[in-house]
Amino acid sequence: MGEFELIRTLFRPLAEATWQDGVVLGPGDDCAIQRVPPGHELVFSIDTLVAGVHFPAGYDPVRLGWRSLAAAVSDLAAMGADPVCYTLALTLPDADPGWAKSLVGGLEEASRAFGIALAGGDITRGPLTLTIQVHGTVPEGQAIRRSGARSGELVAVTGPLGGAAAALSWLEAASPPASAEGFLARYHRPQPRCELGRQLRGLATAAIDISDGLLADLGHILEASGVGAELEPGRVPRNFDGTQATLDQALNGGDDYELCVILPHSALEQLPGSVADSLWVVGKVCAGSGLRLMHADGVIEEVSVPMGYDHFRGQ
Ligand SMILES: [Mg+2]
Repeated sequence: MGEFELIRTLFRPLAEATWQDGVVLGPGDDCAIQRVPPGHELVFSIDTLVAGVHFPAGYDPVRLGWRSLAAAVSDLAAMGADPVCYTLALTLPDADPGWAKSLVGGLEEASRAFGIALAGGDITRGPLTLTIQVHGTVPEGQAIRRSGARSGELVAVTGPLGGAAAALSWLEAASPPASAEGFLARYHRPQPRCELGRQLRGLATAAIDISDGLLADLGHILEASGVGAELEPGRVPRNFDGTQATLDQALNGGDDYELCVILPHSALEQLPGSVADSLWVVGKVCAGSGLRLMHADGVIEEVSVPMGYDHFRGQ
């Protein structure tokens, strides 16, 4: 099967199946056209996933489809944006129709779940790589940036952390133990927190999605906002279906795609109960700089904020 046949038989139907109102023109022309409603802004972000770097070589293509789109959409969630459409640049070692069909199956499931349409793309030959650019919209001026955190505000996360990191050792196991299932589900099917992001517009002062680990991603907020923070490790949720990720996995593990949110105390009371119930307060923002871990036994640990994964340094 060639490039054009893959597009005609698999990707064009995916675009048609996931089409939504915000897409004026989908694939087939030189560009796609997206409608941005009056009073809204276009929010967009691009992510590349390389086999052997961002997912294991030989990773199941259905899961790859879901995971790739979830990771990309998670950046929209972090800004409080509503997903609209995405473009996909796919580099494949060969045009294996069975593999591509499975990938499209995973993409379609995720596209429907997150309410985002395939609007266009490109296929080339080479080492397996997916690049996804997601587009969303947000009411003018309401995108949640990294730079708005202020001293005295709360640091919260939207769910348990460390599950994807804990899953890594079980990914290639033929029969992982039942205790690993919650971790594996988190790795294979991350759930971008779009609805929470939307509800936090106008209330959260800063947010980021946790792709590199809580300490690294919170560090990005602190740096952008020019503040410091105190984090209570004992309050960081890390329970997955009855099995706990380690504290190190919860603080430093990536790929969970929960949100780290900064909000004033008063905002917690304004949130609908369902949203407030989805937030775990894990610390507070302080004047100055730096990140301190306030351990339950009274020990205070100053941590140097990790920068996140550096693809050229490997750490
Ligand atoms: Mg992000």
